Amino acid sequence: MGNKLQNTATLVNRVVHNEKYIQCTFELEESFSQRPQAGQYVSFRLGERKEIRSYSICSMPSDSKSFDLMVDVTPQGIGTTFLQNAEIGTQVELLGPLGRFVLSEGIENKKVFLIGTGSGVAPLRAMVLDLLRNRKTTQQVTLMWGERFSQNLIWQDEMKELESKFPNFKFIPVISRPAETDQCAKGRVTGCIDPMHLTENTEYYLCGGKAMIEETMEILQKKWVDRSVIFHEKFD
Ligand SMILES: Cc1cc2nc3c(=O)[nH]c(=O)nc-3n(C[C@H](O)[C@H](O)[C@H](O)COP(=O)(O)OP(=O)(O)OC[C@H]3O[C@@H](n4cnc5c(N)ncnc54)[C@H](O)[C@@H]3O)c2cc1C
Repeated sequence: MGNKLQNTATLVNRVVHNEKYIQCTFELEESFSQRPQAGQYVSFRLGERKEIRSYSICSMPSDSKSFDLMVDVTPQGIGTTFLQNAEIGTQVELLGPLGRFVLSEGIENKKVFLIGTGSGVAPLRAMVLDLLRNRKTTQQVTLMWGERFSQNLIWQDEMKELESKFPNFKFIPVISRPAETDQCAKGRVTGCIDPMHLTENTEYYLCGGKAMIEETMEILQKKWVDRSVIFHEKFD
């Protein structure tokens, strides 16, 4: 089959988590020519003009023909309206797996600190599942997820379950517009990176909007984290 990236997929399920996020499951016509790595994405060609829109695979990498995407539906452009409204059974052309935002070699021997804002958590969830369930790392894995409102958070039960099953895993939601009753870190992710997270032998994986990534990289580098251990994916 070679390295053919073109494929056709069918939308087989959609879960509406809340007003902001949906999760779509696709089934490929042919298996990916190469097994997706956690952090990679697919690009759809949509509409008459075959416009490209990219979405990270949020499910654990596997050889199966299906994969999940987690989508913030609020932009309401061509990509998000398609994913929100397409009927189950709709077929779509795609390219994938794409992207170099993947865990580095030998990651099982390193601590991993993942920081995402908004839908930027999607590839990070795939990385967490890959590290804990596939690679069975015993090193510390920390996932920090910044959201505006706590009601936007999803996968909370899964994160709690992972924390109880894997003592080396910590999930830190950070809410920028908290309700009084919210019992979690408050503010922006950039304000919640404390020296506890800046340990030796750690790699940093950042995903989200350009502004957050630039600010976080600056903060990390000011705290003497070497640029070579910071990896990122910009969604805008
Ligand atoms: C590598 C990668 C991975 C990604 N992974 C994910 C993911 O896992 N989940 C996810 O939710 N997103 C992800 N994204 C973002 C995603 O690709 C889209 O950018 C996003 O869903 C918006 O697409 P859209 O077609 O709905 O909106 P667009 O049509 O691209 O529009 C974006 C916004 O701009 C506004 N807009 C468009 N045109 C104009 C105009 N002419 N004037 C003024 N405003 C305008 C729209 O109203 C909308 O709010 C990823 C992006 C990249 C690059």
